[in-house]
Amino acid sequence: MKQLAGKTVLITGGSRGIGAAIAQRLAREGAQVALTYKTSPEKAAGVVKTIEAQNGRAMAIQADGADPQAIVNAVEATVRELGGLDVLVNNAGIGMYKDISEFTIDDFDEIVAVNIRAVFMAVSAALPYLKSGGRIITIGSCQAERMPGPGGALYAMSKSALVGFTKGIARDLGPKGITANLVHPGPVDTDMNPANGPTADFQRSLMALDTFGTGDEVAALVAYLAGPESRYITGAGFLIDGGTNI
Ligand code: NDP
Repeated sequence: MKQLAGKTVLITGGSRGIGAAIAQRLAREGAQVALTYKTSPEKAAGVVKTIEAQNGRAMAIQADGADPQAIVNAVEATVRELGGLDVLVNNAGIGMYKDISEFTIDDFDEIVAVNIRAVFMAVSAALPYLKSGGRIITIGSCQAERMPGPGGALYAMSKSALVGFTKGIARDLGPKGITANLVHPGPVDTDMNPANGPTADFQRSLMALDTFGTGDEVAALVAYLAGPESRYITGAGFLIDGGTNI
């Protein structure tokens, strides 16, 4: 039997990049999948179609992570349409790189809203539905731990906040049999961080493996953390960064 058969998963930011790869991988593991997007309805519909073409069940929900009510609505829609919620994957996130002297208060508020507050909102909204065996998996960043160049102060701040949050909820939810873990990707070839982008060579110079990762590789780690074999792992963070941070 597929390891996620009978499970329902909600993935934020599943229309492109790492989130789309996670949606498709978890569907291949047998899960029913809801995915959110902000501005790419066609891409989200494409992910749903791909899953359905492989006899899976999926739905796309427009939900801007900066809007707390939209996240609550996305959780409610998932439960209403797919019958429950077993795994929450907080993937949606934005990058923002500037010298610290150039960041505005609006930049600060936006990155906190999308990269931190949205995770809190999704977890809060999901809690009434998560049962023993439930999983919360959040996509952080290797920059939560180490900042190898200039411009990333707010991004690193937002991702390192998730470390403390995940440890806190792991303690709160452990007695209920629900785990919470973080996946910290390094450079992964997506629209956010293309392998041929202006800083790609600098990023490769930091790696042990000298190559960008793929969404599918991150999705494989998420699939493990979503499945039954990870029962004894909680409050943990997993680097998947080609050796960037060693
Ligand atoms: P992409 O920019 O390629 O894709 C982002 C996804 O998130 C899209 O589905 C997008 O939806 C959605 N999204 C963006 N903003 C919002 C929002 N405000 N509300 C709801 N959904 C939103 O990013 P990646 O796939 O590269 O990144 C995914 C996660 O991985 C992020 O949390 C990122 O910080 C993290 N990460 C990525 C790394 C990389 O090198 N790529 C490295 C380390 C961490 P839409 O299509 O509608 O815009």
